[in-house]
Amino acid sequence: MSNNRDYYGVLGVPKNASKDDIKNVYRKLALQYHPDRNKSKGAEDRFKEISEAYAVLSDDDKRKRYDTYGHLGSEEVFRGSEANFDEIFKDIGIGGFKDIFEQVFGGREGGFTDPFNFGFRIGGGGRRRGQDLVYDAELSLEEVLKGKREEIELPKLERCRNCAGTGAAPGSKPRKCNVCDGQGQMKRVYSQNRFSTFVSLEPCQTCRGEGEIIDRPCETCSGAGNIRNYKKINIEIPKGVEDGMTLQLRGEGEPFENGQSGDLLIRIHVKPHSIFERLSDGHILYNLDTSFTDLALGAERKVPTLEGDEKLRIIAGSQPNSILKLKGKGLPRYGGFGKGDEVVRLNIKVPTQLNDTQKALLRQLDKEFKSVVDK
Ligand SMILES: [Zn+2]
Ligand SMILES: [Zn+2]
Repeated sequence: MSNNRDYYGVLGVPKNASKDDIKNVYRKLALQYHPDRNKSKGAEDRFKEISEAYAVLSDDDKRKRYDTYGHLGSEEVFRGSEANFDEIFKDIGIGGFKDIFEQVFGGREGGFTDPFNFGFRIGGGGRRRGQDLVYDAELSLEEVLKGKREEIELPKLERCRNCAGTGAAPGSKPRKCNVCDGQGQMKRVYSQNRFSTFVSLEPCQTCRGEGEIIDRPCETCSGAGNIRNYKKINIEIPKGVEDGMTLQLRGEGEPFENGQSGDLLIRIHVKPHSIFERLSDGHILYNLDTSFTDLALGAERKVPTLEGDEKLRIIAGSQPNSILKLKGKGLPRYGGFGKGDEVVRLNIKVPTQLNDTQKALLRQLDKEFKSVVDK
């Protein structure tokens, strides 16, 4: 991990930035550099950097110590940090921090790395679990109305059968790393000052934190101990979901050896509709073009809804932009009762081209109106 970086510079915030500002900036950067989302070179390192900076700057005590004494050891950075990574990651629909830690900071399924040994404060109470998977579902308003069933293919990490997950070629065994004595991590006195000594625990360079060394890697999985596979599952997206929601299917994520499977997170994207605008509480808006005569004389018009056309009565003397409602013709309310309405706004459309007869009639009408006003 970085030793001489300026945490404020890494996040691009001023020295006096508030906790909320720091959180918002980190949330944005995490969304951008999260290794699940950004496969470009350097994204992972950048993600490590910003996470380390955030762990320190979002924690009053650590921030004060950093401001006063400079860097903390990498063990110190995350230990008991106030930083709520889980909340942020859930919020932006990516896996929990522990999963990220295992992915980014050197852990491997079946490997030694358990962030709880480092004393991370992470929601979920210290279970080891598989990685969460994220699926982006796109729905039309019509699908929001009815709910949607979808068959999707999930990438699944499975234990390699050829080597039974050890990563070593059949007939061979991984051997204990003698540099770190199988611990996978090395203690290093990081810095000393008048008040305290910082000790950092860093992944062993020789075995890359695994604690063991594979001399002959398994050919099937290239020594990883697991392989990627695909599994089809049916998901059901309930009625009334809203854009930006994340649904969680427990246990449908990646499995974890002797532990709990991760979750499948379904991120909901609702496509904009060509004629309806979604309002809150299940209501939808439709702009109906009407003419002056429709409003003045009253009219009966056909109006599209999500479930076919409906008749709408416009009463004589209606004003432009007034609102009519088609009860229950909106969307189901997610987690609530009933359906919203279709709100119809009466737009007035003024003709841009008139023929001579129309012009003559309108002039006559205009004269008629004025004579009434003059009396
Ligand atoms: Zn294998
Ligand atoms: Zn080692």
